[in-house]
Amino acid sequence: MRAYEALADLILPTSCAGCGAGGVALRSGVCGDCVATVAAMRPHETRPTPAPPGLPLCVTLGPYADPLSSMIVNYKDRGRHRLAKPLGALLGAVVAEVAAGRPVLLVPVPDTPGAARERHGDHMARLTRVAARRLRAAGTVALVAYPLKAMPRADSAHLSAADRARTAQSAFAVREARVKSLRAAARGRLIFLVDDVLTTGSTLAVVSERLAEVDVEVAAGVTLAATELRRESAESWSMGGADPNGRIRVKRS
Ligand SMILES: [Zn+2]
Repeated sequence: MRAYEALADLILPTSCAGCGAGGVALRSGVCGDCVATVAAMRPHETRPTPAPPGLPLCVTLGPYADPLSSMIVNYKDRGRHRLAKPLGALLGAVVAEVAAGRPVLLVPVPDTPGAARERHGDHMARLTRVAARRLRAAGTVALVAYPLKAMPRADSAHLSAADRARTAQSAFAVREARVKSLRAAARGRLIFLVDDVLTTGSTLAVVSERLAEVDVEVAAGVTLAATELRRESAESWSMGGADPNGRIRVKRS
């Protein structure tokens, strides 16, 4: 799937969402240089150091650095919603790499109600819908489920890893009314948690835990980007296909 092609489909009369370049007639919301940079990124395993207990396998597209970080911020917090198409396509490409053709159930990490209001919609739900459409178009069976709710909380951007972990513990809950349908949808599918940026891993760890409590096992957490802080460089790595146990297989070379 050539996800980055979607980058060229946008027509936005603004500066590049990746590097801020303006003054040229951008055919898309992202300039050619930034498209090329993102197109060269390959999904790879990543892991924060230290990793919180219960953190599933994490796979990301690139470092949380420009142009990817600016594209995410422009989409998420500056109202450039049309970036959902290329970013969702990129997310779909990461999922496709891990899924290797197997059916998937995507579970986006939800915004708090307040954040979703400010952003005129839940930003990960929107991206995940695009990703699922791309996956289906490429022949992968892909469903999206929304079993989680985010509790109102303070901005965690400036908290330490330990404080973040404590805050994250109470930050998410499973919607009781959706447990039954979630279990049904999860049957025979790889379950991926989907988020924009991996930082300490506490969000993905806690959400995995919440889902495990209702007997839904997460196969992997998938993000667009991962911060380099406290993170060991990923080993040379590639994804294999289905293994006999139907679990994720990670090949290291
Ligand atoms: Zn650019």
